[in-house]
Amino acid sequence: MDNDTKLKVTFCSGAGTVTGANFLIEGNGKKFLVDCGLIQGEKVAEDLNWDKFPYEASTIDILFITHGHIDHIGRIPKLIAEGFNGRIISTIPTKEITEVMLADTAHLLSRDEDHNLAEIYSPENIKKALSLWETIEYGQKLNVDHGFQFSYKDSGHILGSGMLEIIYNYRKIVFTGDLGNSPSPLLRDTEKIKDVDYLFMESCYGDRNHEDRDERKNKLMEIIKQNYDRKGTLIIPTFSLERTQELLYEINTLVEWNLIPKMSIFLDSPLAIKLTAIYTKYEKYFNPTALKIIRGGDEIFNFIGLKMTDTTDESKAILHAPDPKIIMAGSGMSNGGRILHHEKNYLPYASNTILLIGYQSVGTLGRSIQNGTKKLHIMGEDIHVKAHVEMISGYSGHKDSDHLVEFVADTANTVKKIFLLMGEPKSAMFLAQKLKDNLGVNAYTPIAGEQVVIDC
Ligand SMILES: [Zn+2]
Repeated sequence: MDNDTKLKVTFCSGAGTVTGANFLIEGNGKKFLVDCGLIQGEKVAEDLNWDKFPYEASTIDILFITHGHIDHIGRIPKLIAEGFNGRIISTIPTKEITEVMLADTAHLLSRDEDHNLAEIYSPENIKKALSLWETIEYGQKLNVDHGFQFSYKDSGHILGSGMLEIIYNYRKIVFTGDLGNSPSPLLRDTEKIKDVDYLFMESCYGDRNHEDRDERKNKLMEIIKQNYDRKGTLIIPTFSLERTQELLYEINTLVEWNLIPKMSIFLDSPLAIKLTAIYTKYEKYFNPTALKIIRGGDEIFNFIGLKMTDTTDESKAILHAPDPKIIMAGSGMSNGGRILHHEKNYLPYASNTILLIGYQSVGTLGRSIQNGTKKLHIMGEDIHVKAHVEMISGYSGHKDSDHLVEFVADTANTVKKIFLLMGEPKSAMFLAQKLKDNLGVNAYTPIAGEQVVIDC
């Protein structure tokens, strides 16, 4: 760039869609990336992921990671394969979560017969990424030459999630990553932002509000009890990261307060089991209420009836475990993982229940179930859905429409422009209008591939 006060931002992917976060910042002779996520939809990895990045990976100085969800980290091995040799920066838990998530994704993608996975997702590239990785604490400032300063604020979305705050030429630029649905049972609230000049924010739930939070625990309790009375199996497709741990914590409370009858509860996901161990290790990042319960002696991710089934044999044996029972398994949108076996086995019977507790992306099996589709094709078989389909949206890990507006309100007096990312166009555009109407701010919805110049 000719002018040192200008920064160019390219929305390489992750604009006009929820997944594939990858944003390039260029200015004053430096190049930074924010996130390097997998583009997901019908498949764990869409074909687009195999396209070359629209920049020379070897010229990037630093890759900043906002959090360990695969749509924010999933193309890091590919970035390495294309020659990236810079620094990678994140919070401490994000690095450990990434290590587990990338290994799991490599395993999932190894079944993709259409693509030569080894070239982009090799164990060597994952290892190299981790060797380039440095961690910083929330609030710790990282100064980079040419006048850039970076730090993370807690976004309250998953363990380790951070908003990236950039100070350059006395201007403040914030990339929110995903914003948590605070208050979360486990995590601290999203930190407030102020004095921001340019805000790049997520808009996943830009056009919708969640159910009331108190509702959701009651609804969970009711669904568990109704399924118990029908002597059925309750299957819950769960995102292994955060949602599983929140759910375990809430079921822990229901069990320990005798609010639900005793039954077997299976956590049927090796990935979720590994991630739960990381949550236990880093419980110091939890909110004060959760910390108080832990310090009172409660193991919040462990209760009577809970069985963690790591091996395939243990997983297969669940089918023979007596009803009523509960099975939590991944993936959360039913686009892979052990949940498919359970859906095949349990969806055809009216005594059973499937409970959807998270965002179901367009094109996924989870979205079809959510839409009430009665005839599904699962693992090569036609399945007629007779099970009860229940939904609780209050478990979303994302701020809803009203709370996104509330988040912006703290900095409405200074913000020059807001770029709405990581949302489907309908959602992002609705939020843009709502922000303009409610706060009088300038909100814009870029499309994938678009470049903007911000004047610092
Ligand atoms: Zn996320």
